[in-house]
Amino acid sequence: MRFDIVAMWPEMLAPYASRGTLWAAQERQLIEVHLHRLETFALAGRPLVDDRPFGGGAGMVMRPEPFARAIEAIGTEAGTKPFTVLLSAQGVRLDQKLARELAHKRALTLLAGRYEGVDERVAQMCDLEISIGDYVLAGGEVAAAVMLEAVGRMVPGVVGRHESAATDSFFSGPLLGHPQYTRPRTFRKMSVPEVLISGDHERIRRWRAVQAWRKTLRHRPDLVQ
Ligand code: SAM
Repeated sequence: MRFDIVAMWPEMLAPYASRGTLWAAQERQLIEVHLHRLETFALAGRPLVDDRPFGGGAGMVMRPEPFARAIEAIGTEAGTKPFTVLLSAQGVRLDQKLARELAHKRALTLLAGRYEGVDERVAQMCDLEISIGDYVLAGGEVAAAVMLEAVGRMVPGVVGRHESAATDSFFSGPLLGHPQYTRPRTFRKMSVPEVLISGDHERIRRWRAVQAWRKTLRHRPDLVQ
């Protein structure tokens, strides 16, 4: 799967793409990550990516032309029409189900804004507007990093031996994941639940299921209503 990210400061994203699961996925050619600097798509002789808002008001709004040119250039480079997403606090909320759906696309382009946001005509050129949560960030770069990780790990084969998506929170329904423990067996007078060292796999499975429900009811009762 191909990811293209267009941002004012794409270098902020390089560390996410060059470590851990995402890096391994690129090495194994399961995903490709292409980072693009928005400025390089600005109109020649008028290298503006932002301007004052029509109708007045504070701050600057990001102009539509650089985003339009980026979408077109990426489509040509990718040889396909990527599914294009504008990152925005006003978008539909990202969740695990949406991340899994997006992981089936051949190519995904993520557009990150800054300042007061992006000219509304860019949203009209996109397939979807996505928010990573009900709060406002200063820019879309962090949102793009979140999308890259959340969608990237859902691409078949990306999550390997060292982690398992199947026991993750939200993977097979609305439940949070069960609690995890590792060595030492006792840490600062807190002991690992006895059942986990019993070797009884059926008891362990049932204990984990109950704990997942408990944690969900305690932290996110909205999920199981
Ligand atoms: N004026 C905008 C509003 O009321 O929604 C907020 C603009 S915000 C300061 C600048 C950029 O950060 C946005 O264009 C978007 O790309 C990104 N951003 C901010 N919050 C976000 C969120 N919750 N999810 C995704 N992107 C977000």
